[in-house]
Amino acid sequence: MSMATQAPSRRDASTSSIKPRVLIVEDETALVELLRYNLEQSGFRVSVAYDGEEALASVQDDVPDLILLDWMLPLMSGIEVCRQLRRQTATANLPIIMLTARGEEGDRVRGLDAGADDYVSKPFSPTELVARIRAVLRRIRPALADEALSYADIVMDLVGHRVTRASKPVHLGPTEFRLLRHFMEHPGRVFSREQLLDAVWGKDVYVEARTVDVHIRRLRIALNGEQQVDLIRTVRAAGYALDATPG
Ligand code: CA
Repeated sequence: MSMATQAPSRRDASTSSIKPRVLIVEDETALVELLRYNLEQSGFRVSVAYDGEEALASVQDDVPDLILLDWMLPLMSGIEVCRQLRRQTATANLPIIMLTARGEEGDRVRGLDAGADDYVSKPFSPTELVARIRAVLRRIRPALADEALSYADIVMDLVGHRVTRASKPVHLGPTEFRLLRHFMEHPGRVFSREQLLDAVWGKDVYVEARTVDVHIRRLRIALNGEQQVDLIRTVRAAGYALDATPG
């Protein structure tokens, strides 16, 4: 029977950053609880599988953003779980950090050979482990390592230059992208056209103030689609703001 705790796969876009979900695969309950506590404190969502088969079943149900995979597991070793995940298209690039009591160089090489992205020997400090998780995510899933901005239901991946609203892709030109980024970095703040020109186009570029209006209009059309709430507020005689609060 699967004991995996399934967190919802939908990303919570109402918070200031995306919370990545980590699947802990470990049979030692005390260590699981220690890891769960530290990861949740560090802003991750956590699911748990207590053996190798349960881990594969859990990933099949819902692919996490990263797996912390213990080497010594009942039923199937962590190495075998890692190999199987690497063989499947959906999980071929899933970030995996192996945990192990073994600290020998040969084991480290075997773990990395099996496809793990990193390898942490027990005992480890939770702080170091969290740093390693962030490093692996930054390398493999930059959008999940604080290199994304979110506001209301808009998510901006600053590395992949992708924007979604309510999980649907939004296609923006380069100027609209920079404009939205500026708003997302300062939500709620009103910017005059001149301030937006300086911030988005640059101080040395001569562009008429009404150009800002043109790009704001394009940004609105791209973001709002047919029926989304308009999150860009026009402030008469002052400028524009990204603002989800009504009125
Ligand atoms: Ca174990």
